Amino acid sequence: MNNRSRVTLIYIILGLVFLWWLQSTLSEQQRQISYTTFKEYLDQGKIQEVHVGETKIVGRLKGDHGVQGERFETIRIEEPDLVQRLEERGVQSTGVIEREGFGSILLAWILPVGLMILIWGFIMKRMGKMAQGGVMSFGKNRVKIVGEKDVQVSFDDVAGLDEAKVELQEIVHFLKEPEQYTRIGARIPKGVLLVGPPGTGKTLMARAVAGQASVPFFLMSGSDFVEMFVGLGASRVRDLFQQAQEKAPCIIFIDELDALGKARGAGGMMGGHDEREQTLNQLLVEMDGFDPNKGVVIMAATNRPEVLDPALLRPGRFDRQVLVDRPDLTGREAILRIHADKVRLEADVDLKTVALRTPGFAGADLANAVNEAALLAVRRKKGKVTMDEFEEAIDRVVAGLQKKGRLISEKERKIVAYHEVGHAVVGEVLPHAEKTHKISIVPRGMAALGMTWQRPTEDRYLLTKSELRDRIAALLGGRAAEKIFIGDITTGAQNDLSRATDIARAMVRQYGMSDELGPVAYDPENKAILPTSDFMPSCEHGSMVSDKIDAEVKMVLEEAMVRANKVLTEYRDQVEVVTAKLLEREQIDGDELRALL
Ligand code: ADP
Ligand code: MG
Ligand code: ZN
Repeated sequence: MNNRSRVTLIYIILGLVFLWWLQSTLSEQQRQISYTTFKEYLDQGKIQEVHVGETKIVGRLKGDHGVQGERFETIRIEEPDLVQRLEERGVQSTGVIEREGFGSILLAWILPVGLMILIWGFIMKRMGKMAQGGVMSFGKNRVKIVGEKDVQVSFDDVAGLDEAKVELQEIVHFLKEPEQYTRIGARIPKGVLLVGPPGTGKTLMARAVAGQASVPFFLMSGSDFVEMFVGLGASRVRDLFQQAQEKAPCIIFIDELDALGKARGAGGMMGGHDEREQTLNQLLVEMDGFDPNKGVVIMAATNRPEVLDPALLRPGRFDRQVLVDRPDLTGREAILRIHADKVRLEADVDLKTVALRTPGFAGADLANAVNEAALLAVRRKKGKVTMDEFEEAIDRVVAGLQKKGRLISEKERKIVAYHEVGHAVVGEVLPHAEKTHKISIVPRGMAALGMTWQRPTEDRYLLTKSELRDRIAALLGGRAAEKIFIGDITTGAQNDLSRATDIARAMVRQYGMSDELGPVAYDPENKAILPTSDFMPSCEHGSMVSDKIDAEVKMVLEEAMVRANKVLTEYRDQVEVVTAKLLEREQIDGDELRALL
């Protein structure tokens, strides 16, 4: 039995008790007597007064010494001389032909029934309120989700996310003219997931898609569901999808999907969040059940894609992901321009300089900085915002971000830049290494501070020994650059080292590429076929060979390190130039790099 029916039951019992009490107090104690006894009493002269009704006789016995006598009631039997006998005995008799009074009918029937209805009404009202989340969620009144009709945001209001815009343009086009797609039979993705750090404009971007396509926008935040009344989240999801389908074409946007879509079973010790799971399940059911060709596109945003339930990312759900990343220099300038448009600027304000001074800022941080500057100008009673205010505002925002650990220092940025350029230059110079696609020092998430994308010139199934050697050298190029240009080494090369080591180990143990050990596979891939036991060593070679393998792996790595060092010393000047450029611009693509070399 759940809470609600328990409450109802209590009310019903209370109501019945009340009715019983009402009945017993309104009707004074009356002794039921038989008609024969009544006549005996009458003959004995014990009766004080009677009311003769149509079906019964009610009366009072004579009391002694001023005490009122007992009341009694008996059935009336049709007896013509009753009145006469009453008079003979001197009994006061009233209302000989008294019908059952309206009053008693009222008391006996209408009142209790009325009360029942009232009580029911009260219970229903209360339950209704609870269902709206009124009582149970402590007064937070949650209204039904209504679509935003005219979204006033367009792609022009979102700056610096050109790649994301290109990807979303297709969605916009589909929402505008769904027939074009359905006619050909093209299927548009059901779900689009915007992934990126906080404040980079995911929510803004989703709104802009709706504005750009001029379709209604239904927003729901994942965190709303976590503390909801049992069963309500699921029913609201159902409701939302139904509404959206009526309003198609439109966009359903689920903000902070991670709050709702955490992997199931990863709840807490307290039995997890049943409500969240129910809501998530309902969402999955709805996503599977509806036809995207009707023109409903589901978008969602998260800054923690790694915690999402894998079921959400399956084909037919949020299978398309769009990266909404922190802006680079040009992006930051564009964002500043948008927000500075609304404030009055002194002529000395150069937004490019502001952008230069704000590496690592997300769009929201930049909007914040502009607003801080404007506030400062007001406080200083200046008519316009000057560069001074911007300088101070940036310092404030930087301090705030550093406290949250979201900004890296100038020194770290420099190290990251040299490291990344190290990879890229070694890769470019060595003939068999992969060529650089892009170098970036825009921070991405927590782990990777910078990144160098290298892509193979062609799709490959076979790799030669020289290619593997050069690839290892390029991986070690980051560490080599730190050593040469900074004079010390950092923890930043951890991932590079483990990848390089993996390749070197595979060369020696699997591919037979070591001259010393010869063309022998020391790491048979099908070793699972042979059951290994405690008595049978799983390695098929002795510890002497093991040592040799380790030495050989180390040699491959050291030889690669020497070559990386050699390249970087030889190209020292170019590394400096490229690094300076990278520090300034934060991103360099492969062709520019090759031009600089
Ligand atoms: P997220 O949802 O990714 O956390 P929001 O969309 O809520 O970020 O961004 C917060 C605010 O920051 C926006 O309302 C906007 O004013 C500003 N902003 C963020 N990114 C951008 C951008 N790329 N262009 C313009 N303004 C931005
Ligand atoms: Mg948001
Ligand atoms: Zn690296």
